[in-house]
Amino acid sequence: MIHAEAESGDQPNVMKIPFNRNHRASNEKQYVEEVLSRAAYGAPYPFQERCRQWLEHRFDSEVVVTQSCTDALEMAALLCRVGPGDEVILPSFTFSSTATAFALRGAALVFVDIEPRLFNIDVDAVAKAVTARTKVIVAVNYAGNPCDIDALRRLSDDRDLLLVEDAAQSLMTERDGRQVGTTADLTTISFHNTKNIHCGEGGALVVNRPEFRSRAHILSEKGTNRRAFFLGEVDKYSWVDIGTSALPSELTSALLLSQLEDAVDVTESRRSAWSAYRDALRPLAERGLFSLPVDPDGVRHNAHIFHLLVREQEVRDELIRYLRDRSISAPFHYLPLHSSRAGLRHGRLSGGGEITDRVSSRLIRLPLWPGVPVRPVVEAIHDFFGVALDERFESVPTSLAAQSVESQRPGT
Ligand SMILES: *Cc1c(COP(=O)(O)O)cnc(C)c1O
Repeated sequence: MIHAEAESGDQPNVMKIPFNRNHRASNEKQYVEEVLSRAAYGAPYPFQERCRQWLEHRFDSEVVVTQSCTDALEMAALLCRVGPGDEVILPSFTFSSTATAFALRGAALVFVDIEPRLFNIDVDAVAKAVTARTKVIVAVNYAGNPCDIDALRRLSDDRDLLLVEDAAQSLMTERDGRQVGTTADLTTISFHNTKNIHCGEGGALVVNRPEFRSRAHILSEKGTNRRAFFLGEVDKYSWVDIGTSALPSELTSALLLSQLEDAVDVTESRRSAWSAYRDALRPLAERGLFSLPVDPDGVRHNAHIFHLLVREQEVRDELIRYLRDRSISAPFHYLPLHSSRAGLRHGRLSGGGEITDRVSSRLIRLPLWPGVPVRPVVEAIHDFFGVALDERFESVPTSLAAQSVESQRPGT
């Protein structure tokens, strides 16, 4: 299990303060009903098209909407023509999808460590891991924070490698005022229900490398040039390449569009909860009880995760139990891929995995969603460490219930 604690501790019905509570978008019912009432499930897929346009505008690039980020990663592996004998470098500290998409094509995985600040892939470790067999570098933006994609771009260009960015968690994160995810050859996004913007299950592939564009559409449509046919570029469509069935249904797309339209408000609301946690917990961090997440310069992150890094695994496990006893769900993740059962079979570790191991055993994620009641969580953490809550925190309201995200009030 990768989300060991999330599996048992993440039941909204049981937990007073669940780890995640999905945003309900203003237009979701209207859009879904539009599909149902017109029985409009078929071509030309207006909701899927509107999602694609929204995302293309956001990334200023070509996008294929998919049924998951895993789908998008699998398409990335196909587009990179990864196969047996090839090596793919990726961080050990990530979700299984980043790895399995490339293992599925028969590639050997080369896991590297993360850096200790943002827990993103360590560029020096990547440089040392490159061999004559290396074909692709896959970077991950942990907690939505951008990895050092410019350094990875230079490295990939120097060594003639392809670069994939698993930006599953990064929609709405901006660096220098721009959505991240436009530098790699291919970037993948997730709309899984654990992500900030979701449609239950969903994803997208951002195709930044122009040579990949037409094949990306073909792969997503069972290996046919159906899209070219609908665009009037060919007069019939047929099977032209290998492929998969990656496009989401209209029901899913209707839900996704309603979420995308609320993305700015959702991000704003999550960011206020994130900042409230940081401000209230800073005094404990200053006592050395744990370290807080970094808010990097030049980045406007999307507040996907608020995590604490405590000093020992026992403290982490006790804190998780303490919070769970108070009906607060605060899971950890990820178990390192390099020592996982499938990781051992499909890959090897290059360099050390010390930071991955340390973060994996000491990290705890606090509940974070629009309107999450920050105060009881902060109080419980103070109680656990036996420290009185700083008076200055009194001014922070119990519920940050999203000025703009009305339906998310706790208790509704
Ligand atoms: C959530 C996530 C995925 C998988 O996304 P799905 O849409 O569920 O396939 C892949 N990589 C990372 C880093 C993720 O956080």
